[in-house]
Amino acid sequence: MTQRLACLAAVLIVSPGFAADLRESIAQDYDAHLADLFTYLHANPELSMQEFETSDRMASELEAAGYTITRNIGKTGLAGTLRNGDGPVLMIRADMDGLPVLEKTDLDYKSTAKQVNLEGIEMPVMHACGHDMHMTTLVGVARRMAALRDRWQGTLLLVGQPAEEAEGGAKAMVADGLYDRVGRPDFALALHVSAGDPLGKITFSDGLMYSSADTVRINVRGVATHGASPHLGKDPILIGSQIVVALQSIVTREVGPLEPAVITVGAFRGGTAPNVIADHARLDITVRANTEETRYQLLDSIERVAINTARAAGVPEDLLPEVIIYSDGAPTTNNDAALARRVRAAMQAGMGANSLMEYKQTDMGAEDFPDLVNVDPPIPSVYFQVGGTPVEDLESGNWAGHHSGLFRIDPEGSVTAGVEAMTLAALEVLGRPPN
Ligand SMILES: [Zn+2]
Ligand SMILES: [Zn+2]
Repeated sequence: MTQRLACLAAVLIVSPGFAADLRESIAQDYDAHLADLFTYLHANPELSMQEFETSDRMASELEAAGYTITRNIGKTGLAGTLRNGDGPVLMIRADMDGLPVLEKTDLDYKSTAKQVNLEGIEMPVMHACGHDMHMTTLVGVARRMAALRDRWQGTLLLVGQPAEEAEGGAKAMVADGLYDRVGRPDFALALHVSAGDPLGKITFSDGLMYSSADTVRINVRGVATHGASPHLGKDPILIGSQIVVALQSIVTREVGPLEPAVITVGAFRGGTAPNVIADHARLDITVRANTEETRYQLLDSIERVAINTARAAGVPEDLLPEVIIYSDGAPTTNNDAALARRVRAAMQAGMGANSLMEYKQTDMGAEDFPDLVNVDPPIPSVYFQVGGTPVEDLESGNWAGHHSGLFRIDPEGSVTAGVEAMTLAALEVLGRPPN
């Protein structure tokens, strides 16, 4: 029943005239304001948990749009609140961090920024994942929703989240009392620009969006000896290599054949000289799964394989590998099916059915957004993607993936589609039919 009423509301709110006006207003916002904001954010990226100036700029943008600002939630995080009578509380989140990547594009607003990271090392910084697009879109939605106040009722809670790429910013905001300080949302929305999707096309599923991601470190311990006397020691590089190979059989022989899983040993460090057998080696691993069940199966199996591979090599019990599973891993990102259907209907009504594409998971990327919504009880949420690359560039191969120094998206096309889609989704959640 609620479902039917909600769908009815979407149809009434999004009349063809309203949809055309909305698109025009967003285009005007882009020229008047959002283009400059995007350029500023792109040229001035900051690393995870160091988004100081970014956070200042976002606070002043949201404040200027009429929102009440709460700062320093989870270090650099912030929230802007707009209360507009009784009704649901809707949270919309944008992540704010750049990456330690040297920008290699030829954009005239390219980043030349450098920043000292949390380990004290100076790094080049680039918005190589498009979080500048997410923030610009959030400000666009803030302005549009403030202007459309007579069409909705409730509370809009816009969140600028630090550290999506590293350091667990979503978790940090919740741990720092986000919901005690600004209220608990009834629903939540977020988006990501997608360089691999056609410009402006919206795509999301009714369920799984992204995989889980965990980081595992294996400290392989051996017994040092001369490289010419291997029989007197235990070689951690050989044992580490056997572990790397054995880990692959977890995916091929333990996880069901129809269940996606990834175990990637991204770093293998050990040894000092050709004629020395070292006493330790280190493997750094990323682990991806599409269900929490497979996630924990993989993590348990990695530990078993590492320890018993060393045992088989005769490593003494007190020198077996140390397997560290970092607790800042991201769970799977899952859309709420009922909310996804409502949001899709609203976007189709406002943008036209061919603005949406079927969602297809093509890799095992992850997000920390679920850490904001997997609270008790969970907050129903929808996460969607907005295409960022013109079709002709996709077809000619003239584009680069996320986290590349060559990453670039079309800001105008992606931001305006993002603002439109998110505004329609927000009106679906908070909207009321016009009088
Ligand atoms: Zn990223
Ligand atoms: Zn990202």
